[in-house]
Amino acid sequence: MHTPVTIIGAGLGGLTLARVLHVHGIPATVYEAEPSPKARTQGGMLDIHDYNGQLAVEAAGLLDEFRGLVLEGRQAMRVLGRDGTVLAEKADDGTGGRPEVQRGDLRRMLLDALPDGTVHWGHKVTGARTLGDGRHEVTFADGGTVVTGLLVGADGAWSRVRPLLTAAKPEYVGEAFVEIYLFDAGTRHPVAGKTVGGGSLMAPASGKEIHAHRESGDMLHVYVSLTRSLDWFAAIDFTDPAAATARVAAEFDGWAPELTALITEGDTAPVLRPLYTLPIGHRWERVPGVTLIGDAAHVMPANGEGANLAMLDGAELGLALAAHRGDVEAALAGYEEAMFPRSAEVGAEGAEFGELLAGVADEDVPRVLIEAFAALTEAGRAS
Ligand SMILES: Cc1cc2nc3c(=O)[nH]c(=O)nc-3n(C[C@H](O)[C@H](O)[C@H](O)COP(=O)(O)OP(=O)(O)OC[C@H]3O[C@@H](n4cnc5c(N)ncnc54)[C@H](O)[C@@H]3O)c2cc1C
Repeated sequence: MHTPVTIIGAGLGGLTLARVLHVHGIPATVYEAEPSPKARTQGGMLDIHDYNGQLAVEAAGLLDEFRGLVLEGRQAMRVLGRDGTVLAEKADDGTGGRPEVQRGDLRRMLLDALPDGTVHWGHKVTGARTLGDGRHEVTFADGGTVVTGLLVGADGAWSRVRPLLTAAKPEYVGEAFVEIYLFDAGTRHPVAGKTVGGGSLMAPASGKEIHAHRESGDMLHVYVSLTRSLDWFAAIDFTDPAAATARVAAEFDGWAPELTALITEGDTAPVLRPLYTLPIGHRWERVPGVTLIGDAAHVMPANGEGANLAMLDGAELGLALAAHRGDVEAALAGYEEAMFPRSAEVGAEGAEFGELLAGVADEDVPRVLIEAFAALTEAGRAS
């Protein structure tokens, strides 16, 4: 006996859950707001960790497919000072525990591993209400509804399912990314390409950082991080790409030209991505028939763990439902008992690191970052 599962959101968390349920013969339907799998490019590269994201891939029975997606050499890492000096560098020797894959490839891998028709595209949820007895009614933007005995919110930071469980809302963390792409680095951006190297680059300072990845197709993906208020960003006209680029680049006046080239040579309009968080350690009382996974449950400041945690949540919930067939509440309680402290710990680590950096003089930021990575490597978290 098992209750069919209704999952809201076909991100990495929701799709991992659907796949693990499928492996265990439990039917699931996913409702996704986007009109099709190709409606939006899926963002950049993700490192999938051996201590969380890869465990989820294993539970989904897709390790071989996953290995086929890994981009060779991309675990290389370097830290540069603002004058372009390489302060620390680590080659990718193929033994690291954080292989890099394109997010779009990972999502496609999961979609391809689901029975046709599992995902209902173009179904934007506008709200959900409790009917009692663990049942919920979900309403879509077109006015349609479904009633379900087991509802899972995998619908990201602005979850429409979350209000069934908690009144908590994400708050701006005081930092935003500006996202820029440079295409055909080898031929069109050789200096920027050489600066990034084969994997990822970090050029940190107090309250700002240039972070870049070499992605598939000789593409450089740049995140410029700025610790500024939302009002500060609102004063920049992002509909005028040249003016926005110039304003963002001005924050890096005096930095080495090979670093600022990662901003000024952008081939795409800069996109603002403010970062939001739920309170670290956020949890809720058990409500029959509904739970949350991934960002819907614990969106947190960027720390390279969010997608990994979302996938692990999806896998763990799927495994719990398979282990407690006929007792949905035992499955949900078991899943939440493990998920709350797991996400709280990761969130607290990220917050502690943020506080550490905030208290450090500008010129010491790269050193502190390098030491923090060394400590993580030693702990097996950043090999
Ligand atoms: C700029 C940036 C960089 C990041 N880099 C990394 C990284 O390197 N490594 C890492 O691990 N994490 C990273 N993260 C975090 C990571 O992206 C998220 O934690 C992860 O995507 C969460 O997965 P999810 O499945 O919970 O939610 P999402 O990926 O947000 O998926 C939610 C899905 O639900 C759908 N949806 C939303 N609302 C509705 C609705 N009302 N009705 C129906 N469907 C809906 C959405 O369209 C989407 O498909 C980054 C985040 C940002 C912002």
